[in-house]
Amino acid sequence: MPCECINQCPFFNDRMANMPAMAEIYKKKYCEGDFQECARYMVFKALGKSAVPSDLFPNQKEKALKILEGK
Ligand code: SF4
Repeated sequence: MPCECINQCPFFNDRMANMPAMAEIYKKKYCEGDFQECARYMVFKALGKSAVPSDLFPNQKEKALKILEGK
């Protein structure tokens, strides 16, 4: 089952600045797979859409954890 954010997510829809070269691989890994491990999804679920930084990539889980810890 794909991520519930897939239709609106700027990462999945290539709307982020500086998309990584690995973007297509991340889409398969996270958006169409383990979305619960996605940094963007983690922040979205815990704090809501408006709390997701525009430059946060799916593989930046440590950054997401810091946001969730309020750092
Ligand atoms: S897995 Fe992450 S990057 Fe992919 S659509 Fe969901 S929130 Fe966006």
